[in-house]
Amino acid sequence: MKAVVFRQFGEPEVLRLEEIDPPKPQSGEVLVRIRAAGVNPVDAYRRAGTHSYRPPLPATPGFDGAGVVERSQAPGLVEGMRVWVSASTSGTYAEYAACPADAVHPLPQGLSFSQGAAVGIPYLTAYRALFVRAKAAPGETVLVHGASGGVGLAALQLARAAGLRVAGTAGTPRGLDLVLREGAHAAFDHSKHGYLDEALDWTKKTGFNVILEMLANVNLAKDLSVVARFGRIAVIGSRGPVEIDPREAMTRDASILGMTLRNATAEEKPRIDAAVQAGLEDGTLKPVVGLELPLAEAAESHRAVMRSGAHGKIVLLA
Ligand code: NAP
Repeated sequence: MKAVVFRQFGEPEVLRLEEIDPPKPQSGEVLVRIRAAGVNPVDAYRRAGTHSYRPPLPATPGFDGAGVVERSQAPGLVEGMRVWVSASTSGTYAEYAACPADAVHPLPQGLSFSQGAAVGIPYLTAYRALFVRAKAAPGETVLVHGASGGVGLAALQLARAAGLRVAGTAGTPRGLDLVLREGAHAAFDHSKHGYLDEALDWTKKTGFNVILEMLANVNLAKDLSVVARFGRIAVIGSRGPVEIDPREAMTRDASILGMTLRNATAEEKPRIDAAVQAGLEDGTLKPVVGLELPLAEAAESHRAVMRSGAHGKIVLLA
């Protein structure tokens, strides 16, 4: 089969399309014929060797994908079934991937393989950050700080469907349009000086009950000045250290909550999966695909995922 392989850590160019043997699923795994693979920033950190987990080499990247069940002994997952997947032991940037059965979910009618590949990490992360960690409730206000990318768009749709007042940020006019289209009541340009003052005015100066933060090393200190009393900031993404004034948190009884999807407990996981699946089935959750590339252009997909100007999910077609 064709698969993207990296044999050393490094720049995107280490990703090569190769002909390798298809994976042999272990007990409890399903073999999926991948038609589209979701590209996440974590794939790029792993390829670069900068992630806390360095996979043994050679490796094929990718956790997210969508396709058709090729071989399965798992109850409810029959051959020929259209599925989306949120984990793989062999990597989803390939024509075939071995996936743990509990990470394989039916792909509802009306959703394309590319949309299915955009579900996994983004929606599960957004759901856990919003509802499990930050305990967002209907009627509250939420700022999705970095709303034009995979996790941010998922968060907008989830928050809007749950009855929150939603604001989102993006760094380009195209991103801002998308943020408004996908559920935000208001959109702010994070490349513009003073945009958080405008966002605070939008809350009538009471601040945001919840902030989902995609770039904490840039924004955390400022987030603390626009979070409401008893507010919660969920740190989803950060690319370095940051200095904060703890008094800002103290005077508001505000909480800063770390959030990593892989820390989801065995109890949380099926609940999060079920909530996301229900939203995909009833149409409240509609993944947005911004860029489709062939597997052979995996290197370009990694350059694109680290560039600003996000407007939906990047997927590779297999
Ligand atoms: P993505 O699709 O590349 O989107 C990145 C987002 O960050 C875009 O909306 C981008 O907006 C925005 N951004 C850029 N500069 C910003 C700034 N100064 N302030 C606020 N936002 C800014 O990435 P993603 O998949 O959504 O992931 C977002 C982050 O969460 C990444 O760092 C990723 O590693 C992390 N993540 C963590 C977990 C976890 O378990 N903790 C899971 C998934 C992802 P523009 O491009 O419009 O400027």
